[in-house]
Amino acid sequence: MKKGTKLYSILKLKCPRCQNGDLFYNPGLFVCTRVLEMPERCLHCNQNFKIEPGYYSAALWISYPIVLILFIPFIFLGISLNEMYTISFRILFPIFIIICLLLQIPIMRLSRAILINMTVDFRGN
Ligand SMILES: [Zn+2]
Repeated sequence: MKKGTKLYSILKLKCPRCQNGDLFYNPGLFVCTRVLEMPERCLHCNQNFKIEPGYYSAALWISYPIVLILFIPFIFLGISLNEMYTISFRILFPIFIIICLLLQIPIMRLSRAILINMTVDFRGN
């Protein structure tokens, strides 16, 4: 993945300005502790990550379409399986719930990364 693109910053959870510093104290998509704890500023370029009070509440509006994009295919899969093999939603629904729980943390983190990338542009080192 090419450094300098917004996709790099979003998927690697890096500072949108320098793409060296981490957006979160605990880097990585799948983490169990310090899930949403972010430093006040980038440790590398000093970019402010807390742009204004309540800034990241807008990330909810970014995570919502991500969840829809991920789960609409599952719904159609469930409908088609239901018609073809009589596997009902009663079997698939718990699987959806488990997948939803597993993906909750990565989606929240990616939503924050997308939001700050919509505000801050890459400026190199
Ligand atoms: Zn930075």
